[in-house]
Amino acid sequence: MNIEVVTIGDELLLGFTIDTNGAHLARELSQYGVTVARRASVGDGADEIGAAVGEALDRTGAVITTGGLGPTSDDRTKPSIAALFGREMQLDESIVESLRQRWKSRGWPGDLPESNRQQALIPSGATILENRHGSAPGIWLEDERGRWVAMLPGVPREMRGMFADSLLPLIRARLPGEPMVVASRTIRTTGISESALSDRIRNLQDLDFEGLELAYLPGWEGVDLRLTARGVTAQDADARFVRVGDALKEVAGDHVYGEGAADLAASVLAALRAAGKKIAVGESCTGGMLGARLTAVAGSSDVVLGGVIAYHNDVKMGQLGVGKQTLAEHGAVSEETAREMASGARALLGSAVGVGITGIAGPGGGTPDKPVGTVCIAADIDGNVKSFRGSLVGDRHEVRQRSAQAALNLVRRMLAGTA
Ligand code: ATP
Repeated sequence: MNIEVVTIGDELLLGFTIDTNGAHLARELSQYGVTVARRASVGDGADEIGAAVGEALDRTGAVITTGGLGPTSDDRTKPSIAALFGREMQLDESIVESLRQRWKSRGWPGDLPESNRQQALIPSGATILENRHGSAPGIWLEDERGRWVAMLPGVPREMRGMFADSLLPLIRARLPGEPMVVASRTIRTTGISESALSDRIRNLQDLDFEGLELAYLPGWEGVDLRLTARGVTAQDADARFVRVGDALKEVAGDHVYGEGAADLAASVLAALRAAGKKIAVGESCTGGMLGARLTAVAGSSDVVLGGVIAYHNDVKMGQLGVGKQTLAEHGAVSEETAREMASGARALLGSAVGVGITGIAGPGGGTPDKPVGTVCIAADIDGNVKSFRGSLVGDRHEVRQRSAQAALNLVRRMLAGTA
């Protein structure tokens, strides 16, 4: 089945909102073998909406829209699509009543405002898609030829909930036989470049990809390897993912830290928890980013003790006990300093694991010896200290993000006994 998606809202065209709704729908639908044949974004104007949805209907007869269902006057989705189908707008008393109940149950004063009643206006003959995550109901409108438009809210959380609860079952009911899927398996690697990875994979002469596509997706977290299967059953795709994915994991070796949406900080926390160890951080150029990564994971408080943002040399010396001589001889950005920061954080906070990061994030401050992107990272686990000096690429923000990721990776590998 082919579907078109039309996302609605001036802010999408102005670039203030990124169309994550369109991306989510395409990803979700592909799992059921439904192809999003085209995606378009249009402004809030009734004519624009009518034209875009009308053209999409002519091509595929199946359209999902998001946005423009709210109580505000710029929400023109429903009337313009009703007009395409030649339907009148009617007030649906059951929606008025449920909106009124929602209003009361929240303890908001007075009666339902007139602008909210507009949400209860729906095209005649439409099916209502319940909104358990917000107020604006969704709408399914179908003509006698079986052509349909499903209208979902713009707010991503509401859109995703309504899609999963109400719309997906309607679409799936229209699919013939066993669905052919577009599915993927993602293997996450870090600490290895895209070219080094592709060399290793190219050397696997015997590897049969069994029709799977392989994509290299580099980012500051590392390089993701994504395998995609198209036009096969879910079971068939899974079997191929196991065979091919496992071969890729083997060749990427210790650089693999997880699959799917795995977060390296979460993996490190799990490994620390399993080892019964707590962690403390001493950060210079990352200014707390490593601490932020660790504490962003819910439940991290049982493992994370805290840290010091040791940006100024006085703090490196005063709080983390970095030697004046170390700084004079090797400089603030050196493996020696990073090692003393790691051990200092560990001693100061009384943890089993200490991490030190010091580097030159740029854009200024680089020297021929230590250009921008030079970062020294160390970890001290129960007195066993390991460190390395890396040359990280990207702008200031990216160098800092990559530094925090590289520090997490060092701890992961040390805990696994591979560093
Ligand atoms: P509301 O009741 O808020 O008016 P609505 O269904 O009318 O809901 P919009 O007003 O179009 O939705 O959008 C509400 C918010 O949802 C926007 O401000 C934007 O932050 C977000 N949003 C809208 N469309 C998208 C989209 N395609 N992708 C991601 N976010 C979106």
